[in-house]
Amino acid sequence: MNYDYLIVGSGLYGAVFARKATDAGKSVLVIDKRSNIGGNVYTEDIEGIHVHKYGAHIFHTNIKEVWDYVNQFAEFNRFTNSPVANYKGELFSLPFNMYTFNKMWGVVTPEEAAAKIEEQRKAAGITEPKNLEEQAISLVGTDIYEKLIKGYTQKQWGRPCTELPAFIIKRLPVRLTFDNNYFNALYQGIPKGGYTKMVANMLDGIEVRLGVNYLDNKDEFDAMADKVIFTGPIDEYFGFKLGYLEYRSVRFENEVLDKPNFQGNAAVNYTDAETPWTRIIEHKWFEFGKDDDGNDLPKTVISREFSSEWKPGDEPYYPVNDEKNGKLYQEYKALGDKEEKVIFGGRLGEYKYYDMDAVIKSALDMAKKELG
Ligand code: UDP
Repeated sequence: MNYDYLIVGSGLYGAVFARKATDAGKSVLVIDKRSNIGGNVYTEDIEGIHVHKYGAHIFHTNIKEVWDYVNQFAEFNRFTNSPVANYKGELFSLPFNMYTFNKMWGVVTPEEAAAKIEEQRKAAGITEPKNLEEQAISLVGTDIYEKLIKGYTQKQWGRPCTELPAFIIKRLPVRLTFDNNYFNALYQGIPKGGYTKMVANMLDGIEVRLGVNYLDNKDEFDAMADKVIFTGPIDEYFGFKLGYLEYRSVRFENEVLDKPNFQGNAAVNYTDAETPWTRIIEHKWFEFGKDDDGNDLPKTVISREFSSEWKPGDEPYYPVNDEKNGKLYQEYKALGDKEEKVIFGGRLGEYKYYDMDAVIKSALDMAKKELG
């Protein structure tokens, strides 16, 4: 045995656990099948812009412990996420707030907005929302559901809103105030220098081997360590023997444009059903100010995001946390619990639609439990 911990995956869960274990005096080896660290928070430098290669990541949290922790490895800028929704050329503010309601209905006061939502909710006859569609209508009414939620959600998840769990839409705030901040979080920002640098700082001084696939040589790797932290898909770990868990995958079409400003915002969501992409990310606005240094940069990099059903060989991004998959996951988890030397963690290891802060919190908690 060479190492106390073999950590499979250098994303946030693996990197945080590796740091904690190393700081506790344990010997650690981190391996990753990709040629880069960082998992899906990996950022790549293109034209001096940190491109979020595996989708936009905006750090936000209400957990002070997590905020203090990440600030040891990166300085965060003051980016506030306020995506714009584009419905067939009509623009709306997100999340759903007084700017959205004013644009949609011409209402001016919070009372008027609340009355409009209530009127549409009543007309739809929903008492106890059973799925995403009913949850959405009962939160914001049918007009907003039809223009800003229905098409986007069905594109993102590839399923009708009536077949999706209600909790997904509860991620978005609904406010009767003029506030375009997408997150209800005390702390928010993007690490200066990009996420890759932040993860590299977490892994500072730790042995990392890249381009190495654990599952291809599992026995050999298992023999190298007392314990394994596995952050890949739990169903893949077990050779999919109980069946496939469903994931959504994402494909990105990146373009470098010879103009300083393409859409004036980091994220524009295309919420109609016909536009094939879900959103366009203009990466420079995560890190540069709109009034000065962003426009000084002559080029810009944009990514169109296309959502698809995961199939073997694709990158898994979003677990589809519906009932059917929940049951199958519980069966895999029961198998996982029997693997005495393996801990399953992170979005893929726990099959959970985790945000970054929740992943870090769960790695910190696991480290406490394991390392004392
Ligand atoms: N959503 C929507 N319209 C939007 C943005 C989000 O209907 O313009 C819904 C959609 O169902 C989506 C969910 O809100 O799956 C969560 O969106 P979020 O932005 O949190 O997703 P992520 O950033 O994780 O892709």
